[in-house]
Amino acid sequence: MVESTGNIESLLQEDRVFPPTEQFKSQANISDPKIYEEALKDPEAFWAKFAEELDWFKKWDKVLEWDPPYAKWFTGGKINVSYNCIDRHLSSARRNKAALIWEGEPGDRQVYTYWDLYREVCRFANGLKSLGVEKGDRVTIYLPMIPELPIAMLACARIGAPHSVVFGGFSAESIRDRVNDSQSKIIITADGGYRRGGIIELKQNVDESLDGSPSIEKVVVVRRTGHADDRMVEGRDVWWHDLVADQPLTCEPEPMDSEDMLYLLYTSGTTGKPKGIVHTTGGYLVGTYATTKWIFDLKEEDVYWCTADIGWVTGHSYIVYGPLANGATTVMYEGSPDYPDRDRFWAIIAKYGITILYTAPTAIRTFMRWGEEYPQRHNLSSLRLLGTVGEPINPEAWVWYWQNIGGGNCPVVDTWWQTETGMILISPLPGITTLKPGSATRPFPGIEAEILDDAGNPVGPGAGGYLTIKKPWPAMLRNLYGDPDRYKEHYWSRYPGIYFTADGAKVDEDGNYWLLGRVDDVINVSAHRISTMEVESALVDNPKVAEAACIGKSHEIKGQAIVGFVTLKDNVVGTDEIIAELKQHVVTKIGAMARPDDIYFAAELPKTRSGKIMRRLLRDVAEGRALGDTTTLADPAVVEALKEQYGEEE
Ligand code: ATP
Ligand code: MG
Repeated sequence: MVESTGNIESLLQEDRVFPPTEQFKSQANISDPKIYEEALKDPEAFWAKFAEELDWFKKWDKVLEWDPPYAKWFTGGKINVSYNCIDRHLSSARRNKAALIWEGEPGDRQVYTYWDLYREVCRFANGLKSLGVEKGDRVTIYLPMIPELPIAMLACARIGAPHSVVFGGFSAESIRDRVNDSQSKIIITADGGYRRGGIIELKQNVDESLDGSPSIEKVVVVRRTGHADDRMVEGRDVWWHDLVADQPLTCEPEPMDSEDMLYLLYTSGTTGKPKGIVHTTGGYLVGTYATTKWIFDLKEEDVYWCTADIGWVTGHSYIVYGPLANGATTVMYEGSPDYPDRDRFWAIIAKYGITILYTAPTAIRTFMRWGEEYPQRHNLSSLRLLGTVGEPINPEAWVWYWQNIGGGNCPVVDTWWQTETGMILISPLPGITTLKPGSATRPFPGIEAEILDDAGNPVGPGAGGYLTIKKPWPAMLRNLYGDPDRYKEHYWSRYPGIYFTADGAKVDEDGNYWLLGRVDDVINVSAHRISTMEVESALVDNPKVAEAACIGKSHEIKGQAIVGFVTLKDNVVGTDEIIAELKQHVVTKIGAMARPDDIYFAAELPKTRSGKIMRRLLRDVAEGRALGDTTTLADPAVVEALKEQYGEEE
């Protein structure tokens, strides 16, 4: 047998296919498959066409300047993102359309038309200026999912002050690290936010973080909960409502250079220390505008809901910038999906007549575990398109979503991308693509992906390797903030001039891409390189299993042995018989070499605050090591419990 090198073996078979219906095709924003060829022939012309649909103060001179690893898009162009997300919709009937529909966890709600948004963004932009914020100054935003969050982002974009949004679930220490890295002058927060019936102490976290953050001059505070009025610090803290009270209702948008920084955002930290990703203006807007329009098939009358938190890139690109650039109605929800009951999402869909839903596999697996009775309580027939992002979706979870949420007639777009890519890079186009559960299908037109082995050779159909992107794309990261060496080393050193994603993938005979998990997580059993994703999907395929995470544990003979951590459905109790059944299930689905040596039951799996499984911590548990960096972990108790249960002493 040939020694496997960079290839990841491909074991799982999935034969179910879902071609687009005639009805969907006939109304889709894009339904002609020739677009792939066309874009491939001249990607720059392809992107320029979308750029033409936006409003530029000055048109670009060159579409692309590529000096690897540095790309510049639409150079010489002058544009403002806030203008494109708001002002350009004001001259038509869209001015009275709902731009933002917001619901708070306690049930309060607000609707902002495009005109409302314009006024509020201008007022706050003027407020920021009055605090001394100038073009180029960084502003940290640490807010719950309330309307002030997108308003603050758009206000920053309007005056050319890059924002750095820190997810509201992060601790004081994480805020401090990010504020110091970005050297922000201002931090915008709220007294608190509602989550699962309680209050998240945002202001308190900010106060604590400021001990070690000398760059911060002012703290702007939104009054959301009203429980911390006595904690305002004289001279430093300003109420949002006081700040905007007397501001003019208009604010000229700053003409930004295409390559000026729009924002800075730290990655989820699934694999290690978060990286400060730099996104710029013109290309980012073109990329998010185009992908939103085609992948979500957005129409004037759609009500679009992406359930991500704006603290993650998904919220930046696909709650705020992409949808608003398209003039869409975007929905925002503040709280948790199980408050007051486990049907909250479905109640929201029915209440607002949501037509497009974009959520994460981790959420879908949770809904599966809770059972079908919750979606069944509500009329979900307004839905016409579903999407997922964040992790590979197990085929069983895909089919469950398609059936139970989509009623068997909504295409599911599984979208692969990263904080770094800024925009979706691999995804179906719902009017063209035949869907396969578990596959993100094809690179977006204009994107050239390739799967390489260690030596940099393309691997053939069916073989797994490293997912790379061969050509620059408009919304790509431009750098790591303040750390160009790490930028070059991390993304561009493995294959010079080619973007290294650090994800494993394979392409099947039909040209569909299957994401196999992170290359750091690939398991090595007796010289076979096995994808975590495939073993996990085989486990989730068993009806008793809700969620699974697999890792490789050091093994004297085999190198590594597979260990599966499994969360069972709500009504199933873990027994030795089930362990035996699950091991056998994996063997039947994908073969003997993938048989897990051990299966552990877990009430919950350790996840990042963005909901991704942190396999490296499970490896630490299984190998009896001290836990690595846990700052991005959502709930430390989860991994502590597993350690107690399964950790080997010494
Ligand atoms: P860090 O880079 O700091 O470790 P992270 O990679 O989790 O954190 P993100 O940029 O939020 O930070 O996540 C991007 C990653 O999420 C991708 O590299 C991939 O591993 C995974 N991912 C996202 N969407 C999909 C998808 N549709 N299918 C498979 N994997 C996905
Ligand atoms: Mg990453």
